[in-house]
Amino acid sequence: MRVLLTGGAGFIGSHVADALLDRGYETLIVDDLSSGRRENLPEGAEFRPLDIRDGDGVQAVFREFRPDVVCHQAAQTSVAISTREPLRDADINVLGSIRLLDAARDVGARIVFASTGGAIYGEVPEDQAADEQWLPKPVSPYACSKYAFENYLHGYRAEHGVQATILRYANVYGPRQDPHGEAGVVAIFARRLKDGEPIRINARRALGDDGCVRDYISVRDVVRANLLAIDGKLEPMVMNVGTGIGTSTGTLARELHKTMSSRSEIGHGARRPGDLERSVLRPHPDLAQGLVPLAEGLRETAAWFAR
Ligand code: NAD
Repeated sequence: MRVLLTGGAGFIGSHVADALLDRGYETLIVDDLSSGRRENLPEGAEFRPLDIRDGDGVQAVFREFRPDVVCHQAAQTSVAISTREPLRDADINVLGSIRLLDAARDVGARIVFASTGGAIYGEVPEDQAADEQWLPKPVSPYACSKYAFENYLHGYRAEHGVQATILRYANVYGPRQDPHGEAGVVAIFARRLKDGEPIRINARRALGDDGCVRDYISVRDVVRANLLAIDGKLEPMVMNVGTGIGTSTGTLARELHKTMSSRSEIGHGARRPGDLERSVLRPHPDLAQGLVPLAEGLRETAAWFAR
């Protein structure tokens, strides 16, 4: 199996890269190192520094490597940046992705796409979990660009027979997580708790409440979903990768505080404009078994940040 992995120097991509190399898949990592780091790349991995917006560069890499599968993790991943610079977000997440899609069509490769369940469904009411049948209601430019590229994948499948799996991740956490990404709160808390700096629970509605509710999923579960998709074992085309469990920022803060035996103070902050109050996904049944419990995943993450 020949896998071209974009974003393999990033948080999630580097864990996928580790797993692909463990399996002995021939893997080529493409990344422009804009938010990823060289030290995240697994030892011995084949790496091509390349911006996916460079159409000629993308075509050349595909012609040379001729992947069976493209695992597309590279993206502008910050909701805040997408709001400030929507054109830049769309340039990478839509136009860059289309360049990959054209190149994949030309060599007959399948695509696995890292989309976002955390942002695409919008507000999820209390006691409910969004399943794949929910109509996406993207609000941020980031969610709009991810959903736009999902639609290109549907279009290219109908028009050109390009096979694709769309994985809509919930809030992913784990070792190597970057505080600036889509769901950086675990990384932000872990760093501050380690250094004894205060942390803050931003309000969901009013100052002093327990904060927004999110569906936190371990990067290990996200890697497992990617491997199944890369192996062509996932049907249908769109799948949620979440846990179905909602956790408030306050619960997350206290759990990490305990795990890290931290002396940091836990305080409260104002609501951040634009934050969804509640986002919880119903995991696709094929991906719902054997998920890493939050306490266990946080222990692994805390141990990594402690180092
Ligand atoms: P990350 O920022 O750690 O990884 C993204 C990688 O893409 C980085 O290595 C970066 O250098 C690379 N990249 C960015 N722009 C590029 C470009 N123009 N050309 C080539 N490489 C480029 O983020 P992550 O959290 O690992 O996210 C991986 C994927 O998962 C992204 O597509 C993201 O949108 C998606 N996602 C993440 C989460 C989450 O909770 N972290 C949730 C939903 C979806």
